[in-house]
Amino acid sequence: MSDRLKIAVPNKGRLSDRAVDLLSDAGLHVPKHARRLLANVDERWQLLFVRTQDVPEYVATGTADVGITGRDLVQEAGLAVKELMPLGFGKCRMVVAVPKNAQHHGLTNLQNKRIATAFPRITRDFFRSKRVEIEIVPLSGATEIAPQVGVADAIVDLVETGSTLRQHGLVEVEAIMDSEAILIAGSECRVECRHLRIELEAALGSVLAAQQKRYLMLNLPLVKLAQVRELLPGITSPTVMNLLSREDWVAVHSVVNEKDINTLIPKLKEVGAQGILVLPIERMVS
Ligand code: AMP
Repeated sequence: MSDRLKIAVPNKGRLSDRAVDLLSDAGLHVPKHARRLLANVDERWQLLFVRTQDVPEYVATGTADVGITGRDLVQEAGLAVKELMPLGFGKCRMVVAVPKNAQHHGLTNLQNKRIATAFPRITRDFFRSKRVEIEIVPLSGATEIAPQVGVADAIVDLVETGSTLRQHGLVEVEAIMDSEAILIAGSECRVECRHLRIELEAALGSVLAAQQKRYLMLNLPLVKLAQVRELLPGITSPTVMNLLSREDWVAVHSVVNEKDINTLIPKLKEVGAQGILVLPIERMVS
């Protein structure tokens, strides 16, 4: 077997582009034309482009060393794989939903009802844990129309905003799990590529950490430094540098949360900051 780390990646569907983009940000560049079944990236990585729901199987059997797929699909597969890290995209929730005019607005009211779902294992385990007997109607997709056409009384499905449920006259009764794209691995990692798995995890982790952050640069009268210091925590503390031929001014650099930028800028200007620049950060290792 080759010493390349084999990475199973969704070949199409919701998670595919984001997975490839994330790998690319982590330094594993795959040209668009190379996204066939197998793509080698330098001498160390091999990407296997497979269906999203097949990724757990590829990883569990050792055909791939690691894989990217949805947490929901991993749980449904029930195979011996472990989650190495959440990847911050493909976020959704798995919920139980019923027609909004139905009488059964509650789990116990679903006793002996038919539940349509593409997730029979998770659904069965969930209702069992709640001690509610149900009949599962396994469907591979479009479950939201099942109650309308009389195939089922309720559904278990993934939702992001809930708008698809509402469009089909359904309301959520209970959330079963939160899902997002995750990196998974089999129980054993081949010795020859253990270091590559550690390298991949570190690279992905540094990209994900950087996505939430921005690099902020500004100039400031020296006398205002204490006030700005309070506004800018930085990772440890902001970097302060002299400006050439301006002894009464300094340049301040700091790492800030992306979500705080818009509220921070007016406060910095009020204190007297000028020449404010906000830059993306590619990687962050703390
Ligand atoms: P695919 O069938 O290849 O398009 O991928 C489906 C996977 O995308 C699911 O198993 C989830 O992990 C993820 N996902 C994220 N948001 C949603 C959503 N709103 N509906 C369905 N799947 C979603």
